[in-house]
Amino acid sequence: MEGERRLSNDYDLITIGGGSGGLAAAQRAAEYGRKVAVIERGPLGGTCVNVGCVPEKIMWEAAGLAHTAEYARDYGFAAEDATHDWLALKEKRDAYIQRLNGIYATNLDRRNIDCISGTAVLQDAHTVSVDGKTVTADDIIIATGGMPIVPDIPGAGLGMTSDGFFEMKQRPQRIAIVGSGYIAVELAGMLRALGSEVSVFVRYDSVLRSFDELMQACVVEALESDGIELHRYAVPKSLAAEDGGLFLGTQNLHRHGPFDALIWAIGRAPLSHDIGLEAAGVGCNRQGFVVTDKYQRTTVDNIYAIGDVTGRVALTPVAIAAGRRLSDRIYGGMVDRHLNCENVPSVVFTHPPLGTCGLTERQARDTFGDDIKVYVSEFVPLFNSMTRHRLKSRMKLITAGAEEKVVGIHLFGLGSDEMLQGFAVAMLMGATKKDFDDTVAIHPTSAEELVTMR
Ligand SMILES: Cc1cc2nc3c(=O)[nH]c(=O)nc-3n(C[C@H](O)[C@H](O)[C@H](O)COP(=O)(O)OP(=O)(O)OC[C@H]3O[C@@H](n4cnc5c(N)ncnc54)[C@H](O)[C@@H]3O)c2cc1C
Repeated sequence: MEGERRLSNDYDLITIGGGSGGLAAAQRAAEYGRKVAVIERGPLGGTCVNVGCVPEKIMWEAAGLAHTAEYARDYGFAAEDATHDWLALKEKRDAYIQRLNGIYATNLDRRNIDCISGTAVLQDAHTVSVDGKTVTADDIIIATGGMPIVPDIPGAGLGMTSDGFFEMKQRPQRIAIVGSGYIAVELAGMLRALGSEVSVFVRYDSVLRSFDELMQACVVEALESDGIELHRYAVPKSLAAEDGGLFLGTQNLHRHGPFDALIWAIGRAPLSHDIGLEAAGVGCNRQGFVVTDKYQRTTVDNIYAIGDVTGRVALTPVAIAAGRRLSDRIYGGMVDRHLNCENVPSVVFTHPPLGTCGLTERQARDTFGDDIKVYVSEFVPLFNSMTRHRLKSRMKLITAGAEEKVVGIHLFGLGSDEMLQGFAVAMLMGATKKDFDDTVAIHPTSAEELVTMR
């Protein structure tokens, strides 16, 4: 049976990867009294802590302060032009992350989890080699995450990825960002707010193409009104370093530049090659994502996979929830415990932020046909009524069926990031439009618009 000690291995559980998912699964298993090891080749905490959510949110906060400094004048403050010390913030951010790395190590220690430093390669279904040594376990969780994709075009290596963004010691004055996903638009917004001239290159005509169309339009408007140049239908063909900087060639034969730096933000690939999947008999799909069922089981009985390497929703809380639920199931006796990836709320940290949960309008139509009702609200937040910059907030509520069950919430505007979590709870509980209508508004807030839509 899953989770029962079967063999005389070194450990009950080994997680390959000490990022969001691996740490969560390991700690939960240890709480059930299991003997656990985490194998990590880099700093503990993985992408989120070291080159993802945490450092990026810090930069988003800095960019937000730059916007606030502008708005302060409109509120009567005699604000002078604020200058920003990029290096000082980077050093402080790095120090904070180092502290987090230490806290993660202490947390493992406290639970008697062994942290093995090195690169893990599966040898068979129970054996993992780590830089020449071998360790064995009854169960193994693959939680190796992903890495940024660099396109296969001449000169691509002259650019950097989001990993490189966090290493930059000074802010580039002229920067190109290639990509249309959330990392591309977030980095673009931050750099622009902190003073860079930013050009974004997208393959089609929009950004965030998997999001609701209203949200896409909001973000495009926000980027452009902040002075970011959006180049549509721009597919990179080459990157070259010449006098004066980097030049990006695109397939429509345009040449863009000079830039001081270029960031590839065109997606992430799973870290699944070179980890011995074949030796252990673990299957992956054509893109290299480890194939799992809803219980995180791979094609091998005692090997599981969680997080970005599985190709499900690539977010930290998803990896954490999958890891914890997996350990609850195999070691905690919760036989059906698993993660349902529907209605996962998420936020894009643009300025202002965007929050989304559930179906887009197009997905809702594909699912329910004409049996949906869409409510939209558009307003200038009270905060912006005093500022020159009047960027509107927009909200969309999508309901389905006669009872008008809420199946999609999409928010763009100040406070959307903090607003969404509670509404996501309501959605998960099956809230209807009537439940929203029956909730007394909090005034004056932006959130009240969601319960007063007509
Ligand atoms: C720029 C950026 C911003 C992001 N912002 C957000 C956000 O705001 N909110 C959010 O929810 N998510 C965000 N994410 C996504 C989030 O970081 C990931 O979804 C999350 O980290 C996935 O966790 P994981 O455990 O699957 O993988 P990871 O956290 O990537 O951990 C995998 C670990 O495995 C290690 N590893 C890999 N191979 C081996 C091996 N062979 N041997 C030993 N160790 C190995 C790696 O070193 C790494 O530490 C962001 C990502 C990026 C890149």
